[in-house]
Amino acid sequence: YDALEAFDPEIAGVLMSELDRLRGGLQLIASENLTSPEVLTAMGSVLSMKYAEGYPGRRYYGGCAEVDKAENLAIERCKALFGADHANVQPHSGASANQAVYGAFLKPGETLLAMSLPHGGHLTHGTKVSFSGKWFNAVHYGVDAETEDIDYDQVEALAKEHRPTVILAGGSAIPRLIDFERFRAIADEVGAIFWVDAAHFIGLVAGKAIPSPVPYADVVSFTTHKVLRGPRSGAIVCTEEHKAAIDKAVFPMMQGGPMMHVIAAKAVNFKECGTPEYAAYAKQVVDNASVLATTLGEHGIRPTTGGTDTHLSLHDLQGVGVSGKDAEARADAAGIVLNKNAIPNDPAPPSVASGIRVGTPCVTTQGMGTEEMKTIAGLIAKAVTEGDADPGHPVSQEVRAAVTDLVMRFPAYPR
Ligand code: PLP
Repeated sequence: YDALEAFDPEIAGVLMSELDRLRGGLQLIASENLTSPEVLTAMGSVLSMKYAEGYPGRRYYGGCAEVDKAENLAIERCKALFGADHANVQPHSGASANQAVYGAFLKPGETLLAMSLPHGGHLTHGTKVSFSGKWFNAVHYGVDAETEDIDYDQVEALAKEHRPTVILAGGSAIPRLIDFERFRAIADEVGAIFWVDAAHFIGLVAGKAIPSPVPYADVVSFTTHKVLRGPRSGAIVCTEEHKAAIDKAVFPMMQGGPMMHVIAAKAVNFKECGTPEYAAYAKQVVDNASVLATTLGEHGIRPTTGGTDTHLSLHDLQGVGVSGKDAEARADAAGIVLNKNAIPNDPAPPSVASGIRVGTPCVTTQGMGTEEMKTIAGLIAKAVTEGDADPGHPVSQEVRAAVTDLVMRFPAYPR
């Protein structure tokens, strides 16, 4: 760091300010976490230079003996962690992993059945602005109006009507457990591949805090930087039957040279995830999310589906008469980072939204427990309902003082 600061003080300054930002506020973005120094070390390492197109033992470049060891460790640890037949650890990100799954199973124009974005899906699940919606025929299911959870009868009806090549479960704003067994049965009924995009919750699966999709799905794609707490990247696990199709789709169909430094960091992360400490962490993430959701509800900020079984909850702000956009700005002014989010059947456009999404991966990494979640819920409620987007507003300042007290007691990256 000293050398960087001497040569490029502008970028060194950005790094330090970002560390200060992480330390100074509450990070409640459900898709973020605070990665370990060991993972960061592997990522910022000499392995970033090596070209290694291909797979261990089958490379298109010489000099790959060392990176082969790193990739083999990542593959074996990933397979062991999830009890999977096969793992591909090369996808650069969640979107790249998903692109490879499309490449393996769908020809342009074929049909995919997935959760709609406004009901909790993801951009890469067939939205019109993504390659997935431009190149494939995406049909979308949503949530039941009463329960606000996945409408499995609708999934079944749409599957029978459209006979999709692939059925996809998973998304970015799903607070409840997904019934993988039911999805598998529906996929079998219509002869479809069953794909789970587990980006959000795979860390909870790794820590055995929630059931795994691996025994049910043909293929599971995921990111490695959310609850899992690894480097910013992606991976895919699949059954033996689909191994060759997945490997060919990742390279050479979709990607060139793999990022060997990030693959090494994934290996470190998969090792971390196999420890009892990580399992305890994953369970605490869920307990914390549940208490945060319930307590926000007690403050009038209603959790959709009535709560959560995972690391995140989605809240409807219509009862308190504040938009998602304003809530995000008011919380931010008080040192609480969360995001506006569409709720199912949202009357507001996505840029405004009627909800917020909150998640507990970061604050749990900092060591906070259910008592702190109750405090945080009160602070969010105060900032959102009485506060202002101006950090100088008295309510912003009052909440920020309480946030500072919390983060001093539970520091991110302790000095
Ligand atoms: N799939 C899901 C369900 C996600 O939530 C995300 C990211 O938030 C992705 C895929 C894409 O991951 P990435 O941002 O790494 O491309």
